[in-house]
Amino acid sequence: MRVLITGAAGFIGSHLCDRFLKEGHEVIGLDNFLTGTPENIAHLFGNPRFTFYKYDVTNFIYVAGKLDLILHFACPASPVDYMNHPIHTMKVDSLGTLHTLGLAKEKSARYVFASTSEIYGNPEVHPQPETYWGNVNPIGPRSVYDEAKRFSEALTMAYCREHDLDVRIVRIFNTYGPRMRMNDGRVVPNFICQALEGKPLTVYGDGTQTRSFCFIEDLVEGIYRVAVYENLKGEVFNLGNPQEYKILDLAKLIVEITGSSSEITFMERPQDDPDRRKPDIKKAKKILGWEPKIGIREGLEKTVKWFREKLAS
Ligand code: UDP
Repeated sequence: MRVLITGAAGFIGSHLCDRFLKEGHEVIGLDNFLTGTPENIAHLFGNPRFTFYKYDVTNFIYVAGKLDLILHFACPASPVDYMNHPIHTMKVDSLGTLHTLGLAKEKSARYVFASTSEIYGNPEVHPQPETYWGNVNPIGPRSVYDEAKRFSEALTMAYCREHDLDVRIVRIFNTYGPRMRMNDGRVVPNFICQALEGKPLTVYGDGTQTRSFCFIEDLVEGIYRVAVYENLKGEVFNLGNPQEYKILDLAKLIVEITGSSSEITFMERPQDDPDRRKPDIKKAKKILGWEPKIGIREGLEKTVKWFREKLAS
């Protein structure tokens, strides 16, 4: 297949490039390096099946030749990043989605949209199945991400209904692993870097809020299946690890794994920070035969090893 991946230099996007190249496909990557970095794809330069363009997907996109599959994964994903770039975030998941969907229509390509557990907002249903409509504050600080992702889901389905485009949507829950940015602001890189540098771990609120953390390898396997399986037109899948943790327990676990002497400090909780999040993955299990295999300890150990090397370099 000839595959276009937006956000190719990002955390998830770069792992997707690796996976599609490994399976023998041709990959065209786009990224404007707003939150991604060339380091994430440096190892791919020179691969004759990989082409990269530094490009902002909020502009009109044209790619010569055929395309079989488009994966729209561009978008700042850390709350710190999207609150620093609120308007650009909304453009990436409105104009960027429109342009990539238009391109998919033009090329008769299959389309996979990277959505998020954030579309569930502060969920009143727990765990969250795909059928839950969510509880989102449309004007709060997180709305630039949540509502743009919700708009993109609606637009993706509109292309499916109006143009019969073969679209699929993945709702990604908290994912972590190598290639996350050190100062990304998300909880896993924050805690790991703080622990490795002997600084206090910054728990927001009392740390009783929960998240469910999926290791990148497991997530990529799920996305790959959603992208290549037949007969999934218009389907939406939660992809995440249903093992749920309190943020305070995550902090303690990271202190233990790193062997750090860091203390834990409590800071103000950001506005609209969801209280809990846990994917219901019955649908992915049944239809894709997918479920995460890597537990939090193993995943964190691999991630800590990567950050240690990064900090030493
Ligand atoms: N969090 C924290 N300390 C940090 C960063 C995040 O306690 O240094 C908390 C944050 O308030 C949230 C959870 O960790 O409850 C996950 O935050 P993250 O930014 O990783 O992603 P989110 O799931 O909120 O999009």
